[in-house]
Amino acid sequence: MSETIFSKIIRREIPAEIVYEDDDILAFRDINGQAPTHVLFIPKRPIATLNDLGDDDANLVGRLVLAATRYAKAQGFAEDGYRCVINCNRDGGQSVYHIHLHVLAGRQLSWPPG
Ligand code: AMP
Repeated sequence: MSETIFSKIIRREIPAEIVYEDDDILAFRDINGQAPTHVLFIPKRPIATLNDLGDDDANLVGRLVLAATRYAKAQGFAEDGYRCVINCNRDGGQSVYHIHLHVLAGRQLSWPPG
């Protein structure tokens, strides 16, 4: 797949406010935050969309979610609540084609989304 801006963030070629990192996952603040907390959890390996996941990625996706829930607990907003979203392709509102889990918290979020 072609590179996205997230690959440049992983390689530290452009700045980002990184809040979590391990061997396979990076998390950083969304540049256009939609809530007081808006963090993106991404695999370091570029995978374009949810549709590109295979059986071998089950562990990676699980760890992505667990990293987000650990972050929510560590930051103290887990009990109040938060939203995790992965947008897929055009109708899902995806704009960066490197899978990312949005974590939004810190305000009452409406449902359904627009
Ligand atoms: P999506 O629309 O689900 O693909 O989400 C892409 C997200 O990436 C948007 O919320 C953008 O604000 C965010 N974003 C784009 N470029 C950057 C960047 N350089 N640093 C942090 N977040 C970014």
